[in-house]
Amino acid sequence: MNCEILAVGTELLLGNTVNTDASSLSDRLSGLGINVFWHTVVGDNPQRLAQAVAIARSRADLIITTGGLGPTYDDLTKNVLAESFGRKMVLHQEEADFLKAWFARNASNKYTDNNLQQAYLPEGCTVFHNDWGTAPGCAFEEGGVHVIMLPGPPRECIPMFENCAVPYLKSLSGDVIFSHQIRVFGIGESAVEILFRDEMEHMQNPTLATYAKFGEVMLRVTAKAGTEAEAEAMCRPVVEHVRSVLGDKVYGVDVPSMEALALELLTEKKLTFATAESLTGGLIGERFTALSGASAVFKGGAVTYCDEVKAGLLGIDPAMIAEKGAVSREVAAAMAKGVRRAVGSDLALSATGLAGPDGDGVHPVGTVFVGLADRENVWVRQLMLGTGRARVRQLAANHAFDMLRRYLQGLDIVDQ
Ligand code: ATP
Repeated sequence: MNCEILAVGTELLLGNTVNTDASSLSDRLSGLGINVFWHTVVGDNPQRLAQAVAIARSRADLIITTGGLGPTYDDLTKNVLAESFGRKMVLHQEEADFLKAWFARNASNKYTDNNLQQAYLPEGCTVFHNDWGTAPGCAFEEGGVHVIMLPGPPRECIPMFENCAVPYLKSLSGDVIFSHQIRVFGIGESAVEILFRDEMEHMQNPTLATYAKFGEVMLRVTAKAGTEAEAEAMCRPVVEHVRSVLGDKVYGVDVPSMEALALELLTEKKLTFATAESLTGGLIGERFTALSGASAVFKGGAVTYCDEVKAGLLGIDPAMIAEKGAVSREVAAAMAKGVRRAVGSDLALSATGLAGPDGDGVHPVGTVFVGLADRENVWVRQLMLGTGRARVRQLAANHAFDMLRRYLQGLDIVDQ
């Protein structure tokens, strides 16, 4: 099935809103084995939307629209789509009753007649009731083209996709689609692609595809079969093959991120950790504490940006900092040891380096030292992360989490 995502909204064209719905939906659709071949954005204009629909139906057999389902005059998606596909708009009584009851419960939102417009839907469609807002979505098929309409706000669009559109799409084929996501760190996407190019070109079911994530690579194995167990069994040998080729660069299968894996492993091993951060300015701690359950294993962190604070808070000898420089293997090691001692954690991570754009006259921009200490030892990884301040800082944090997960998985920590 080939899909076009048609995002409707002038705010997307003006640059006021980023089209995150398209990227979130594409990611999920590829997991269902549906090819997304086009992303189109069109403003709240009926003529241009009708033109975009005509183009989409000439080349795609699934059109998913986002936005323009609400009660205001510029919410025209349903009307234009219904007209384009020759369907009448009819009142859906259950949705009308829901809207009236919703407004009666939510006294701060006054019910106006145009709200009822949301309950008009193309005749004969499958209604997607909106449990996350008021505007329902819907789906129908006409002339071999399936149309799915979802609301624009991501907090409504994504759960409606998961809860309404996915069951609808699955019901179209008797097959179940199952996929595994293999997460890889320490090798670039093009290198991964070279390793698996032949397989990727020739595999039909299951399929294998690579995706570049920030500073890491994801491989997705997808199979279609009569049952989920059969599809999973078809994926398994491919996952094992990828693991055997990439070795411990594979940090996990179906884990959301390296920090999530680190949290899982720390929790399992009942170990705590802390951070001492310089160039990352708290980013390592921020990424970790964004995970629920972090408080059980994360004791705290120090942002030690200038030399005096590195010395004062972490107990590092100022003479050593002066001799080796703040951006050095020795200071990264001392930061990790110092914060571990200060907070009494089992482990500690540290990061010091040059995020740029200005250098220190000694090291090139992008030079970073990331440290990991346990109660006996300390390891330091020296990195050359290139340029781009935000990029260098995120990559440094990725390396910190990679060192932590490798320690917890019993792997070599410094060499990736
Ligand atoms: P509702 O009436 O419930 O707000 P709607 O379907 O009419 O839903 P729109 O009016 O088109 O949605 O958009 C509402 C808001 O949703 C926009 O102002 C924007 O913040 C967000 N939004 C719309 N489309 C997208 C998109 N493609 N990606 C991310 N956010 C979006």
